Amino acid sequence: MKINDFGVLYIVATPIGNLQDMTFRAVEILQSVDVIAAEDTRHSMPLLQHYAIKTPVISLHEHNERERAAQMLERLTKGESIALISDAGTPLISDPGYFFVREARNKGIHVVPIPGSCAAIAALSAAGLPTDKFIFEGFLSSKSKQRKDSLKALLNESRTMIFYESPHRILDLLHDMQDVLGGERILVIARELTKKFETIREGTTHELIEWVKSDENQQRGEIVVLLQGLKQAAAPEEGLEEVKKILPILLESLPLKQAVDITTKITGYRKNEVYELALKLKHD
Ligand code: SAM
Repeated sequence: MKINDFGVLYIVATPIGNLQDMTFRAVEILQSVDVIAAEDTRHSMPLLQHYAIKTPVISLHEHNERERAAQMLERLTKGESIALISDAGTPLISDPGYFFVREARNKGIHVVPIPGSCAAIAALSAAGLPTDKFIFEGFLSSKSKQRKDSLKALLNESRTMIFYESPHRILDLLHDMQDVLGGERILVIARELTKKFETIREGTTHELIEWVKSDENQQRGEIVVLLQGLKQAAAPEEGLEEVKKILPILLESLPLKQAVDITTKITGYRKNEVYELALKLKHD
């Protein structure tokens, strides 16, 4: 429904690899708007050609967003309709467009989402980790120090955490996770979703480092990393009280790893959970 004489700004999700994941509505909107603002016009060409979309396309990327947004806003206020797309998935999700959408809404322009693929949500839906509460961290810094600082801030996070990472930094991220969170945290790596070599693998940080190292293909393509939240691991009550009594005492005089090993042996409690508790005790 139109709320004024302005045109409508559509935020259109496109596939994250499989062209079939385009929605009918997305095709119709892209065919009918006056102009498509695309993150990379050349990148979007195969998709637009595949769906016989002949609408004029202009670029709107992180380096020209402010200038382009001003031009686009003028066209919108004159009544033209515009669709924003990114290279893949949902625009604005680790993609350009935030400034444009903010300005459009400030001007009273009707902004309409056309939902579809999003790598984070696709990964979460199939990872087998709790989905009732989750947080999206996007890309952490490419610098190890900043990356580790971000991970330290997530040490006690109880919600499932979702990260994007480039394939050539996946091992660095996993190593930093191991250093900061320990080797026993449960992770899921979701790679090449919707594509030929789609792989979804769960394991401890330590196990996944070994797996990625042993198979170079795991350092290729597009990757989402999901980290299980701290308190979400199902904790059988039996033995927990004992762990809580023994562990703090051992931690006073022994290195963390040894305290965890001994506590696990005495109580029979799950090692990764004892480890997480030990980290938490140290941190607190
Ligand atoms: N806007 C996109 C979305 O809705 O997911 C994300 C764009 S962001 C620049 C690109 C990152 O998303 C990749 O580095 C990767 O972490 C993730 N990604 C995109 N496509 C993916 C796929 N097919 N499989 C796994 N991860 C993917």
